[in-house]
Amino acid sequence: MTQQEVLCIPIICGFPTKISQDEDKQGRMCPRCNNASVVGASSRTRFELFWIPLIPFSKSHIWICSICQWQMKKGDGHDPQPPGAYAGQQQGAPYLQGPAGHM
Ligand SMILES: [Zn+2]
Repeated sequence: MTQQEVLCIPIICGFPTKISQDEDKQGRMCPRCNNASVVGASSRTRFELFWIPLIPFSKSHIWICSICQWQMKKGDGHDPQPPGAYAGQQQGAPYLQGPAGHM
């Protein structure tokens, strides 16, 4: 029984994109999976050769969802809303549920 082997040659020079979370705040609502797990991050791409960074490129700020890996460049569209944005329209006074009866 012969098994065909596929050799994977790793590319040792390339343009790796490093994503580092730069805001440790509360997550934003993800438009794809609706979880409050979107955080602001910096995406940096640079040319590397033998894992030595040679030419750093300008970094861009992105939104990234830690659950579904949804990404969006900041400024490309509407920013994801913080989960508190929906609670901002709530009434100030708590209402008692149930029929209001006269005594
Ligand atoms: Zn998501």
